[in-house]
Amino acid sequence: MTASIIDPERAAAIDFSNDERARYSRHLIMPEVTLAGQRRLKAARVLCIGAGGLGSPSALYLAAAGVGTLGLVDNDRVELSNLQRQLLHGTSDVGRPKLESARDRLAAVNPNVQVQLHPARFASDNAQEIVADYDIVVDGSDNFPTRYLSSDVCVWARKPNIYGSVFRFDGQTTVFGPHLGGPCYRCLFPEPPPAGSVPNCAEAGVLGVLPGIIGTMQAIEAIKLIVGQGETLLGRLLHFDALKMKFREFKLRRDPECPVCGDHPSIMEPIDYEFFCGSHAADEAQDEADTIPEISVTELKSRMDAGEPLTLIDVREDYEYEIARIDGAHLLPLGQLRDRMEEIPRNGDVVIHCHSGMRSAHAVQLLQQAGYRNAANLIGGIDAWSREIDPTVPRY
Ligand SMILES: [Zn+2]
Repeated sequence: MTASIIDPERAAAIDFSNDERARYSRHLIMPEVTLAGQRRLKAARVLCIGAGGLGSPSALYLAAAGVGTLGLVDNDRVELSNLQRQLLHGTSDVGRPKLESARDRLAAVNPNVQVQLHPARFASDNAQEIVADYDIVVDGSDNFPTRYLSSDVCVWARKPNIYGSVFRFDGQTTVFGPHLGGPCYRCLFPEPPPAGSVPNCAEAGVLGVLPGIIGTMQAIEAIKLIVGQGETLLGRLLHFDALKMKFREFKLRRDPECPVCGDHPSIMEPIDYEFFCGSHAADEAQDEADTIPEISVTELKSRMDAGEPLTLIDVREDYEYEIARIDGAHLLPLGQLRDRMEEIPRNGDVVIHCHSGMRSAHAVQLLQQAGYRNAANLIGGIDAWSREIDPTVPRY
C-alpha cells in the first residue's frame, strides 16, 4: 500500500469551510479518503508541466478534487489546432497565453485552488527552482529534452514524477520515483531516440480523447500518492491501445547503473538536454540537408506567376491532399515514390513539397540517388505556403 507523500503536520493544519465540505462530500464519505485524505489533498502542491493535451485533464481533475496548490508551467499560446484535445482552453482563447486561459478555467472549476503560473519553458536554468515548491510533478510535456529534465530534477529533489505520453491511438503512463523504490525515466530510456525518428503530435497526429484518458490516469496516480491509498504505477508502465481497447502492463526496474538514480550517479545537476537529445544528430541531418537544393515559397510563387515551366510534386498522403492543396500540385505520396518515379520528369525544374518540408527533403534525396539533378525541396512545405503566400489554403 502507498504511504502519503504529504507531511502529516502540514495536513493536520488544514481546515475546511462548510462549502468545501459540501463540495468534497463524495470524497469525504469514501473510507479511502475521508476528511483526513481531503486534508492531504488541500495541503498538496502539484506541478503540471505543460497546459496542453495531458495537462488539461490532469489539472482540471486535480483542481476539482481539491488539490490545494496547482502549479502550471507553459509558455505557449492557444492555437486552433489545440482545441481538439486541450480542454483547458476554449475557442475564444485562441491567441491567448495558455496559462491565462488555464487559470480562468481552473478558477471556474474550483475557486478554492491556488493556481500558480510559471510562464516559461521548463528548462535547465529554472527547473530545480520551480520543482522545489511542489510535492509531485505531473509531466505532460511532449518532447524528450523536457522529459529527461523533469525526471532528473525529480530524482535529485526526491519527488515523484508522473509520466504520460500519447501517440495517435496509443498512450502510456507510469510513476517514476527512485526514492520510493521505482526507476526513473533514464532507467527506462538511457539514450534518447535519434533526433527526428519519433514524430510529435503535430507531425503524427493524436486522437483527441487519448490524452484525456492518459492525463486523467496521471491525476489518479497523483491523488493516490497524496491521499496514501492503493497501489501506484511505481515500477509498472501501463500501455493503452485505444484502437484495440486494450491495456497492457510492463514491469520496470531501477537500473543500478543509471547515471542519475543509480548506485554511482555521474550526473548530479541539469545538463544541456537539447544537445543530449539530438542537436548533434540534428547537425548531421543539417549537413545532409545542405546538399539538398531548396526553394522558398516566395521564390516558387514568383516563378509560378512568371509562368516558368516547373513541375510541383506533393509527397503527402491523399487524406492530407483532401484537407489542403497547392493548385497545380501533382500528388505522389512518399511511400509510392520508388514505384512511380517515372511520373517525375528528368528535365525541367521539379519542386517537391510536403506539409512542413521534412518528407519532401527525403523525397529529393531519393530522387538524387536515382540520378535526378532537377529536384528542389520547398522550404516549410504547404504550411509555409499557407502562412506566407495563400491564406485561403487551410492549415492543419
Ligand atoms: Zn534511473
